[in-house]
Amino acid sequence: MRYQTYALHNFKSIPQIERLSEEDLLNIEVVGSVLPFKTNNYVVDELIDWDNFREDPMFILNFPQKSMLPEDDFNRMAELLLSNADKATIREEANIIREKLNPHPAGQLEYNVPELNGERLNGVQHKYRETMLFFPSQGQTCHAYCTFCFRWPQFTNMDGDIKFSMKEADLIVDYIREHTEITDLLITGGDPMVMKAKSFDVYISKILDANIEHLKTIRIGSKSLSFWPYRFLTEPDADDMLAIFKKITEAGKSVSFMAHFNHPQELSTEAVKQAVQKIRNTGAIIRTQSPVLNHINAHSSIWAEMWRKQVELGMIPYYMFIARDTGAQDYFGIPVVRAWQIFQKAYTQVSGVARTVRGPSMSCTPGKIRVVGVTEIRGEKIIALEFIQGRNSDWAARPFFAKYDCKAQWVDDLKPAFGGDNFFYEEELAEMLLK
Ligand SMILES: *Cc1c(COP(=O)(O)O)cnc(C)c1O
Ligand code: SF4
Repeated sequence: MRYQTYALHNFKSIPQIERLSEEDLLNIEVVGSVLPFKTNNYVVDELIDWDNFREDPMFILNFPQKSMLPEDDFNRMAELLLSNADKATIREEANIIREKLNPHPAGQLEYNVPELNGERLNGVQHKYRETMLFFPSQGQTCHAYCTFCFRWPQFTNMDGDIKFSMKEADLIVDYIREHTEITDLLITGGDPMVMKAKSFDVYISKILDANIEHLKTIRIGSKSLSFWPYRFLTEPDADDMLAIFKKITEAGKSVSFMAHFNHPQELSTEAVKQAVQKIRNTGAIIRTQSPVLNHINAHSSIWAEMWRKQVELGMIPYYMFIARDTGAQDYFGIPVVRAWQIFQKAYTQVSGVARTVRGPSMSCTPGKIRVVGVTEIRGEKIIALEFIQGRNSDWAARPFFAKYDCKAQWVDDLKPAFGGDNFFYEEELAEMLLK
């Protein structure tokens, strides 16, 4: 299968696009000038339901929607486009709007970049003790772009500094070697599976050759099974990529392929089923994750179906996230209480083998905070929370409580229950961030 991408400059050549009205097209052009826009022939031909595209979750996942921008910003950008403003003016306006959309949530850049011999290791984040994140520089794009993506500043070239990138595999090897607490290396992006097998192998070979005893698991965060399963079927180096996975498992390390799926529709094609099988045949384990998103999957039956289908295909449900406070969060965000209700209701509809999933979880500055549920203690309605991961690892699995708030969409909106001033971790966190 030939890979054909579509973005702002050529999306009108998509055959199905003739179903769109002039207004639909303008909306895409306006919002696509601010948020990243890219889709491809697999999504267009095999995932999107064009008979119902305005409500179709796969269409909304890739095609910018009018209400993803605040009305004023939309109107100003629309005016510029309709008056044929020059590129520089459009870019300037786009950057102003982007800055208002919180492009760097949860202190991603400032706080988590480690040092090696006194130098910052760009392209690396080490926030949780056991797991190091690595963003290989050639993997900082995706086979298509999710309209909700919290990494969207990386794709827009607005600022060279915010692009995590690192070429030197030697540096990560040195860092892991020095940090014996690291058991997991999570290679992420963008999507590392956009890399050629040859480039990917540069990193993997160095890591395996270093023979680091404490490194047990290599994780690969990827949306390729959703956006381009042919990566593992018909690409010229499909078998080479699979051979690399096999090489890792044969070296005695586990490969955990962290697959990003947002909707059961992404699990329905022959191509995805075959690709899942091919990856599993290498000895890799596939775990799945997704945010809960208004307009895409904010319903318990969607999640129950997704988890059931994943298990059926041999994958392990792993995370349900709450949409981050960035980009089009007003469009995609739902209250944390609502996210928990969806989780709880879906959880009750699946058997224990699908209840490996954890969530709904917020990845925020203190850690990954899970909404355990809503309950009442001594007459006060509260939200129970716990850390799945903490910036201090000792915070994990410690329950704490927030005042019930049916509107709160993020941890910053929550207040401690029972008249407390601070959550238990806040003082320690403030000290940690000063360092
Ligand atoms: C989620 C995450 C990890 C991995 O956490 P697990 O609980 O091991 O899946 C590692 N680093 C960062 C920064 C993360 O957000
Ligand atoms: S696949 Fe991941 S990194 Fe890529 S656009 Fe979607 S959410 Fe962002």
